[in-house]
Amino acid sequence: MSRSFAIRLLRWYDRHGRHDLPWQHPRTPYRVWLSEVMLQQTQVAAVIPYFERFVARFPDLATLAAASEDDVLQMWAGLGYYARGRNLLKAARAIVAEHGGEFPRTFEQVAALPGIGRSTAGAILAQAFGQRHAILDGNARRVLSRYSASADDARLWELSEQLLPRARLVDYTQALMDLGANVCVPREPRCQTCPVSGDCKAFATGRQHEFPKRRVKPARPLRQASMLLIENRHGQILLERRPSPGIWGGLWCLPMFESNDAWRNYCRDELRIKVSAPRELPVLRHAFTHFELDIQPVRMKTTGTTKGAWFAPAALAKLGLPSPVKKILFSAPRREELR
Ligand code: SF4
Repeated sequence: MSRSFAIRLLRWYDRHGRHDLPWQHPRTPYRVWLSEVMLQQTQVAAVIPYFERFVARFPDLATLAAASEDDVLQMWAGLGYYARGRNLLKAARAIVAEHGGEFPRTFEQVAALPGIGRSTAGAILAQAFGQRHAILDGNARRVLSRYSASADDARLWELSEQLLPRARLVDYTQALMDLGANVCVPREPRCQTCPVSGDCKAFATGRQHEFPKRRVKPARPLRQASMLLIENRHGQILLERRPSPGIWGGLWCLPMFESNDAWRNYCRDELRIKVSAPRELPVLRHAFTHFELDIQPVRMKTTGTTKGAWFAPAALAKLGLPSPVKKILFSAPRREELR
């Protein structure tokens, strides 16, 4: 069965797979690694522009390893799941320190890098070096779960190993991902055009929608926060670096509070400044994986001086900023409010 699965999949890939993804040309270990990390929680179409900007700024591993966390997070801003960007930098530095700057070639070494799990390690080694490793990312899991009518992860890993061909691992790995992305899609799988429909158990029994088992997502609670847009008499804005780990860890953020009382106390007791009549700007809703956040921006001015990180407007664009903070700082109506 395994040989025939791979043969059919590769034949389909040659005609219908994705052959022009930016990380395939050239397909260096660095570019493959970067793409796999970006693709962990994000779809290909959304990743492509980020990937291109990132490699334009950090064309190789040595350049990335020498970068500051600020620079990396700035390039990552908007892609979300910022731990991926921080781990990427940590991993680049570890590769320089421990592997002389050469991307490691064994599964153990790659899986030991920050931010790389079993499937990502397998995908990188298969695609960068043609090594024979199984994957079980979201796309592969869906295909194999339906193909075998099984939702058991251990069984699916076993199957993923069994189906591996002896050659063309680079293409096979991409083919499995492409089949999941373009044919065996979550809602309406296109089984009539699927190269492995002949022995797909879910297709044979009409149970495609039962696999993989959906994890029931609990409703996301809604939380509230205030963000302070404080402008001093030089036109500078006060920002704080978010603690890491934590949401937006390592990014620059407007001072953020859970209640109105908290920010009033902060201005009075910590900043020790007097602020002019605060004005509430329109609320922004931002979705995180486990909750949603309603952000109430509050704009104010101060003539006082205080410690803290104050940035001139021209410097803001060079910082790694969470997307709602960018919206507050750069959206035209809100900038107008500052004048
Ligand atoms: Fe998925 Fe349908 Fe192909 Fe089975 S036949 S692997 S359900 S697309």
